[in-house]
Amino acid sequence: MRVIEPHIHMIARTTADYERMALMHTVACCEPAFWAGYDRQSAAAFYDYFHHITSFEPTRAAQYLIDHYAYVCMNPKEADSLPLAREVISFLPEFLDRPNVLGIGEIGLNKNTKNELTAFEEQLDLAIARNLLVWIHTPHLDDKLKGTRLMLDALRNRPDAKPGLICFDHAEEHTIGPVRDAGFWAAMTIYPITKNSPPRVVDALERFGPERLLVDASGDWGPSDPGTLHQAIFEMRRRGHADDVVEGVFYDNPCRFLGQCPKFKHQPRKGGE
Ligand SMILES: [Zn+2]
Repeated sequence: MRVIEPHIHMIARTTADYERMALMHTVACCEPAFWAGYDRQSAAAFYDYFHHITSFEPTRAAQYLIDHYAYVCMNPKEADSLPLAREVISFLPEFLDRPNVLGIGEIGLNKNTKNELTAFEEQLDLAIARNLLVWIHTPHLDDKLKGTRLMLDALRNRPDAKPGLICFDHAEEHTIGPVRDAGFWAAMTIYPITKNSPPRVVDALERFGPERLLVDASGDWGPSDPGTLHQAIFEMRRRGHADDVVEGVFYDNPCRFLGQCPKFKHQPRKGGE
């Protein structure tokens, strides 16, 4: 069974994690650009960060036969400073042309501020103009539903945006419905302590069905573990779901979303779920 990790911050992980992921049959992973755990002090720091995730990480992943892909953007946690956001956005095109970059992400909202929304919309313009994939960060906890609705409204005003190219991450039971009903993809992030646990994610898969639904393990500098993706796979198999269905969720679905970008190499299985 092959597995694709659609959202992980490998810059914060050790090489041992690449090895573990490879041993658990992960064949590709995607690294959206995000907050570093502290606010960066200049646009140059973002430039170096994008350089890192588009050069060093693909090389490190390749040693474990994992294809590493990335998204670049000004993330919502640092986008409240619009002058800084615009400076960063100005050099995104240079990175969008790199061979492992699939699109813009993870853009979105953090505290649902006006400036965050402006930075979101300006980066959406860039993605639409270039027909790129978009990976969206939705706020955590109480702000999640409001932030998701704000972005769905912003996208409703953009008839030129293709919903099939856009994925809302960190979705939970109350946001999966509105996101998918509007034609977008939804992704659920597993965390070992708070928020979505592996059994809760499998509950949601059973309740909502696998269409346009992705699962990821996060994996960043906070309490997180790339292995939780594989715990969800085991939980699904333990509940009696056929391997064909499980691989449909953890391999074919990411292939379908990511494969809309010609740079992505993997393809869904023929006749897979
Ligand atoms: Zn993230």
